[in-house]
Amino acid sequence: MVDVHAVHKSFGPLEVLRGVDLKVRTGEVTVVLGPSGSGKSTLLRTINHLEKVDRGWIRVDGELIGYRGARGKLHELKEKEVLKQRTRIGFVFQNFNLFPHLTVLDNLVEAPVSALRRPKEEARAAARRLLERVGLSDKADAYPRQLSGGQQQRVAIARALALEPRVLLFDEPTSALDPELVGEVLDVIKDLARAGTTMLVVTHEIGFAREVADTVVFMDGGVVVEQGPPGAVLDSPRHTRTQAFLAKVL
Ligand code: ADP
Ligand code: MG
Repeated sequence: MVDVHAVHKSFGPLEVLRGVDLKVRTGEVTVVLGPSGSGKSTLLRTINHLEKVDRGWIRVDGELIGYRGARGKLHELKEKEVLKQRTRIGFVFQNFNLFPHLTVLDNLVEAPVSALRRPKEEARAAARRLLERVGLSDKADAYPRQLSGGQQQRVAIARALALEPRVLLFDEPTSALDPELVGEVLDVIKDLARAGTTMLVVTHEIGFAREVADTVVFMDGGVVVEQGPPGAVLDSPRHTRTQAFLAKVL
């Protein structure tokens, strides 16, 4: 579903991604671990073309992201085409990024109506089903500021799902939460995993990775150092950099 091939990305003189290769198979959960500054967020942002790549390419569901053309010569897509691609790639941010002036329900209805031209009533009905799925049926008319962080993040997940994306990307979805609220958000992500949602999750929650991931990817210094099933990467990492990182977080 996601195919990242030899992706390079620099910010000025700083080379943040130094040739990243990564595949996420349909229906699988890939968890990305790595120290701060290793390029995890940048990688996620290239997958929905919030960042351009300098070299390499990314396909989602077979479609080249952000560019058209063959491997030799790539031409960047127009903003409108990029926005259309982005509707198929759900993104959940560390800080929720809900629209503060819209109710919970309207947060979920906005994009399907404006980007996919769904009829409003249909979008509302779908939004209510999604709120039920994340356990927030009773919050449809609340505003984001009236919710806890965990509730806001569950709304953000429902909002991402409202576009029926092919894949969901999560960038440290529980890092901004008080510890007692982490579980409710991870439980929603676990439910999605059980339902076969394709997901790429950057997180420091090792227990979650062990339980839910099909593949764990360890990134450091802008490259994938090691990847494999959670049992292999977490319990018997082959690289000293992975070992050193896990020794710090476990
Ligand atoms: P991680 O998510 O693994 O902590 P990031 O992808 O956020 O890492 O960042 C990797 C490196 O790239 C960091 O050194 C960060 O400061 C730098 N960086 C990220 N975004 C930008 C940007 N827009 N401009 C300049 N430097 C950036
Ligand atoms: Mg980050």
